[in-house]
Amino acid sequence: MQLYQSQHLKVYNSLTGKKEIFKPLNEGHIGMYVCGPTVYSNVHLGNCRTFMSFDMIFRYFKHLGYKVRYVRNITDAGHLVDDAEDGEDKIAKKARLEQLEPMEVVQRYTVDFHNILQKFNFLPPSIEPTATGHIIEQIEIIKDILKKGYAYEANGSVYFDVAKFNETNEYGKLSGRKLEDMIANTRELTAQNEKKNPQDFALWKKAEPQHIMRWPSPWGDGFPGWHLECTAMSTKYLGETFDIHGGGMDLKFPHHECEIAQAEASNGHSPVNYWLHANMLTMNGKKMAKSTGNNILPGEIFTGDNEILSKAFSPSAVRFFMMQAHYTSILDLSNDALLASEKGYHRLIEALGTLKNLETGNSSDFDITNWKQQCYDAMNDDFNTPILIAKMFDAVKHINLIKESQETITKADKETLAATLNGFIFDVLGLEENTDDVGDSDKLSGVVELLIQLRKDARDNKDFATSDKIRDQLAAMGIQLKDGKEGTTFSVS
Ligand code: AMP
Ligand code: ZN
Repeated sequence: MQLYQSQHLKVYNSLTGKKEIFKPLNEGHIGMYVCGPTVYSNVHLGNCRTFMSFDMIFRYFKHLGYKVRYVRNITDAGHLVDDAEDGEDKIAKKARLEQLEPMEVVQRYTVDFHNILQKFNFLPPSIEPTATGHIIEQIEIIKDILKKGYAYEANGSVYFDVAKFNETNEYGKLSGRKLEDMIANTRELTAQNEKKNPQDFALWKKAEPQHIMRWPSPWGDGFPGWHLECTAMSTKYLGETFDIHGGGMDLKFPHHECEIAQAEASNGHSPVNYWLHANMLTMNGKKMAKSTGNNILPGEIFTGDNEILSKAFSPSAVRFFMMQAHYTSILDLSNDALLASEKGYHRLIEALGTLKNLETGNSSDFDITNWKQQCYDAMNDDFNTPILIAKMFDAVKHINLIKESQETITKADKETLAATLNGFIFDVLGLEENTDDVGDSDKLSGVVELLIQLRKDARDNKDFATSDKIRDQLAAMGIQLKDGKEGTTFSVS
């Protein structure tokens, strides 16, 4: 018997706005599609949060015994700069600015994406298809939508006819928008615009002569619209209807709304049973984003080489910080929050070590069976990792009481407790027991803080020879000191 048969999972479905009992189309199997990155720059920590939420969800499904086909694509064409229909392709723009082949841009940032995800201990998806690898499939879907009357050709481009679609279907049902309101809130089309209505979106765009990313099609040389790739790749690998589609909240509209419209127009039925949306990571209360510069790169956090945090943090400490928030809640990154998470993570890992060496007795003061089910109940309630972590800290309290001989535990309960904690910490939350690294980085921080203090004392005594020596010798070892308003911080390169 698999665990999923005894655990009753509920997920929050963005399409219905309700928590629903999760029932896959085929018992024991799950098809899950998550929109991947647009590989035109380094992934920032905000991007990582969304992918980490789905990594945790993928891990929990596997933990429950499901066989999961997890498809996460790479967007290497079609995503335009302003998400509207007239901007430049993000990858083509970067290639033009850096005088690179578009595929050099794609390769560079795909490699960066994989490196970062590996550092964070992500499980690889089952399939990682690219938009450029599925141009033929995209053209076939456009032909089908044209044949069914939900699209029109204009000057070498093909647009989806939203008004026509809305006569028989409900455009806006995922994002809770009404087409009439959208129409009321948009300006008139300019004369040269080839769309019938501003709400229409591109399935295929004609490539102007200077456009470097182009493919032949029945409508001339061009490139696919951004929304189409996900319809093509999800249908190809998961079928016309599949269990879960995920992505960041900011993709609900227009991206996911358009995916639904394309699939319904082409196949005549809804593509996805459960839509899951992960919430945003913010910094200083504002969404972390590439375009505004309000972001931090994971690499800058791991080395401490940044202007925002007081020290370096390990991938597991950052991962633990992310897991302490529910995936549908906004999470704000700050130095204090990371410091607190790092401390909590150390406490949890330390407790695992303590547990290993605990003496056992004839009875348990702690109801392990009930506690274990509470851990599952938390995860079964739409993957509530903060509650799960709170439950694990309840166990830490008992572990410490047992160590101090104030409580006892039987051998069997100790084994169950260890197996449950290990399962949730490593398999489900994806943390790593790099306590040596953690311990070393703590020791390094302690030593550098001491040297910073000695340097300050030397400067206060006007002994600049000593203070400079400390700074220079640390720099020679790759440890940079930064003097700021709040005192001196350091980074390791
Ligand atoms: P992009 O590379 O821009 O296509 O984005 C890749 C993924 O990162 C999408 O699922 C976005 O929703 C997600 N994303 C972008 N910014 C943030 C953020 N600040 N917090 C969480 N997820 C984000
Ligand atoms: Zn997508």
